[in-house]
Amino acid sequence: MPPMCVVCPRSPRRDRPLAEFTLVYFRETRTYPEDWVGHPENAVWFCDDHAHLVEGLTDLTADEALERIK
Ligand SMILES: [Zn+2]
Repeated sequence: MPPMCVVCPRSPRRDRPLAEFTLVYFRETRTYPEDWVGHPENAVWFCDDHAHLVEGLTDLTADEALERIK
């Protein structure tokens, strides 16, 4: 299963070449929702277009960082 950027729309965009992905690690937490099971607890995929959005936010939990991005 290919990585999915959490910021991009779910449907693939066909007007762009295949994006590179970066796995970003946030502050560890034990309070993740159930649907995060099976994924590294504090790690989230971002495409290269969006990886820069989390600069300076990796000391937050992933949930907190995503709240600020969206
Ligand atoms: Zn993206």
